[in-house]
Amino acid sequence: MKILVVGGAGYIGSICTELLLDEGHEAIVFDNLGEGHRSAVDSRARFIQGDLTEREKIQAMLSSTRPEAVMHFAASALVGESMRDPSKYFRNNISNGLNLLDAMVTTHVERIVFSSTCAIFGPPTRLPIDETAPPRPINPYGESKLAFERILRWYDQIHSLKFVSLRYFNAAGATGNFGEDHRLETHLIPNVLKVALGEKPHVEIYGTDYETPDGTCIRDYIHILDLARAHILALEAAKSEFYNLGTGGGSSVREVIAACRKIAGRNIDTVEKPRRSGDPSRLIASSEKIKNELGWRPQFQSLEAIIESAWKWHQKFPHGYGD
Ligand code: UDP
Repeated sequence: MKILVVGGAGYIGSICTELLLDEGHEAIVFDNLGEGHRSAVDSRARFIQGDLTEREKIQAMLSSTRPEAVMHFAASALVGESMRDPSKYFRNNISNGLNLLDAMVTTHVERIVFSSTCAIFGPPTRLPIDETAPPRPINPYGESKLAFERILRWYDQIHSLKFVSLRYFNAAGATGNFGEDHRLETHLIPNVLKVALGEKPHVEIYGTDYETPDGTCIRDYIHILDLARAHILALEAAKSEFYNLGTGGGSSVREVIAACRKIAGRNIDTVEKPRRSGDPSRLIASSEKIKNELGWRPQFQSLEAIIESAWKWHQKFPHGYGD
């Protein structure tokens, strides 16, 4: 298939592009390079620089390239930042995303795979979180993604735009070529590995008084390649659907740091800080639905295997993509 990968120069988009190409698909990457990196775009893909605010440009691009489906990764995706600057989240993730959807409707591109998030749920009433859990986001990031999911439902009903919305839990890890390099790194695993590399003096632990066994937040870390495989399966889904994507296991912040120490074989200093606002204490996915309906099978089950792949990438690219 010919796929337009919107946000394909970012962490998750770059690895989905790589996998699409490995599997014989054709990929066109559209990215404004605000967060993404030109060198994160696989050399086999065609690259178009542009922004989702440019409605006419998106329409012209869809008309000229005629993709069979769109994968939409372009978004602002930081919980903490969304608590300080909600407008950025509602603008980028809803208004700009609408420009893409409208251009798809106008040019008759009828299929989209959407990057959603476990942040649409907020604090769970039971674990693991399956698709029947009530969506009650506690930060503007989650709220913006939930709003877009609802918009997708209406566009399906009114315009027959078929969608699969994948709610990622915590994406982590790397392939041999591509990995996680955010301009302002806020994510746990890369921050811990930067300390192991000597690039940062210590890692901060945000909150040690949560109601968890060691007092730190628990997240479900899922390998980026397993996420990417779910996107490829989603392209062939017969109906519009929402799927949660995680491993079904959870690791605390302290457990992640301990695993990084073991894998890197280096000291990693920590500093305990207050809670980061907008963080639920535990998020663990049930992915039974996507396993049953699309035959998805995660291949990386252990936190160690995920961190090992990230550590290899960070050692190979200690300064990330360098731009
Ligand atoms: N976290 C932390 N120190 C950091 C970065 C993150 O303690 O330097 C915590 C964060 O509060 C959360 C967990 O690690 O409980 C995962 O955060 P991350 O930003 O990686 O992903 P999120 O869950 O926000 O998508």
